[in-house]
Amino acid sequence: MLIDGHGRRVDYLRISLTERCNFRCQYCMPEKPFSWVPKENLLSFEELFMFVKVAINEGVNKIRLTGGEPLLREDIDKFITMIYDYKNDIDISLTTNGYLLGESAKRLKDAGLKRLNISLDSLKSDVAAKIAGKDVLKKVLEGINKALEVGLGVKLNMVPLVGINDEEIVDILEYAMAKGLKIRFIEYMENTHANSEIQGMHGREILSKIKEKYHIRALGREGASPSFNYKLLENGYEFGLIDPHKHDFCESCNRIRLTAEGHLIPCLYFDEAQSIAEALRAKDIKKAVAILADVLRDKPKENRWSHEEIASREHSKRAFYMTGG
Ligand code: SAM
Ligand code: SF4
Repeated sequence: MLIDGHGRRVDYLRISLTERCNFRCQYCMPEKPFSWVPKENLLSFEELFMFVKVAINEGVNKIRLTGGEPLLREDIDKFITMIYDYKNDIDISLTTNGYLLGESAKRLKDAGLKRLNISLDSLKSDVAAKIAGKDVLKKVLEGINKALEVGLGVKLNMVPLVGINDEEIVDILEYAMAKGLKIRFIEYMENTHANSEIQGMHGREILSKIKEKYHIRALGREGASPSFNYKLLENGYEFGLIDPHKHDFCESCNRIRLTAEGHLIPCLYFDEAQSIAEALRAKDIKKAVAILADVLRDKPKENRWSHEEIASREHSKRAFYMTGG
């Protein structure tokens, strides 16, 4: 069993399969040129799988594949099958921008994928293009439909930004509701790689927008999930709010992150990481496990995105496209 230095059980592994992406979201990596390709020292699926097996044997029962854009990683379905064949009751999920789902949803489902989170920040083509850096909406909506058609579980994620998509919070909530999908609104997490001009919305401002039309009741968190659930009293529809600036969910944090280049990252906020790449390339599992133990021992107690602190200090240097959110 994996226990961190604060006594929290870690049973959730998030793997960022690539830093590359076909979008350039304002809150993530707006400045990276599209031709940018990171150093080709990605771990192979075989190397990643060595670590996955150790993690599963130590009690990890939930694995999320993310990125960058994970669907850019060729043969991702084969990696999913490797995990599925090793232990078919692992909760395997994926976070994607949805752009390539139209052509890959069926392969992913056949490979053993169960659930997807799809980012949807706007239902207006021009706004979606402004956020993602290119015209994406049509393909993303097609991707959502395809995922549903092949029977994948789908949740939606929206990051509301002041003056950009903040007037669409209710529209996107209603889009999700009409499709029977859960939506989670995510507070923008300030970081040095994002466009410095954008401004996120506070969780309570997001809720205020919804309260202009609906009555809502707070429900609570589901287990260790960072998402706090709310219910519309009008029809019972449930949605989530991820408010890292409050960081009260850190006390039940159950996750560890592995990047495409083999860095184990204990917390989304902090820059600290340790590499297991060399150990995996040398097939030295004992060494990888020892590094994992070290990283878990030093896992921070909580992030530092609190609203009180955020104005007065440097932003997090941790890039979302490396850690996968
Ligand atoms: N490319 C995929 C996508 O966009 O869904 C997966 C990787 S992305 C880094 C994972 C999630 O992090 C997405 O839901 C995205 O909206 C969110 N995200 C990225 N940067 C963020 C930020 N600065 N604040 C809050 N959420 C962010
Ligand atoms: Fe790409 Fe996802 Fe980052 Fe947007 S949030 S640039 S889709 S990795």
